[in-house]
Amino acid sequence: MKRRKTIALVAHDNRKKDLVEWAEFNVNILTGYEMICTGTTGSLVEAALKAKLNGEAERNLHVTKLKSGPLGGDQQMGALIAEGKIHYLIFLWDPMEPQPHDVDVKALLRIASVYNIPTATNRSTADFLISSPLMGTDYSPIIKNFSEYLNRLVNL
Ligand code: PGA
Repeated sequence: MKRRKTIALVAHDNRKKDLVEWAEFNVNILTGYEMICTGTTGSLVEAALKAKLNGEAERNLHVTKLKSGPLGGDQQMGALIAEGKIHYLIFLWDPMEPQPHDVDVKALLRIASVYNIPTATNRSTADFLISSPLMGTDYSPIIKNFSEYLNRLVNL
């Protein structure tokens, strides 16, 4: 069986309502993907989607929950991106509140750019992303060739 693509979902506290509403609206699409979330986001999304599903669809819903963002979840997610295990990232970060883990937020957005992962940081872009005809296809993001960087001369 073809492996399902993986979509990562994260929302800061003031954006969780937005993300849960978005996930509920897209429940039928999301069940076709593996979902990986930071801890609290994952629990909320899973509960909301389970309430919308029943029978086999509900049993098949699987949301992998990493640690909560400020406790290392963003870093775990970044590591999964570096390993090629995440294909799409929906990250509703809060532009109005500083976060205790701001450096991790920046790191996650950075690594998503390094690996050219389709990334939505607001709800409208999440709508565009999930309705793209490229979603779920074999589309592979072009990753910059870093060999020059890797082979650089390092003076010891
Ligand atoms: P949370 O983490 O889903 O555990 O709240 C989100 C974040 O702040 O990165």
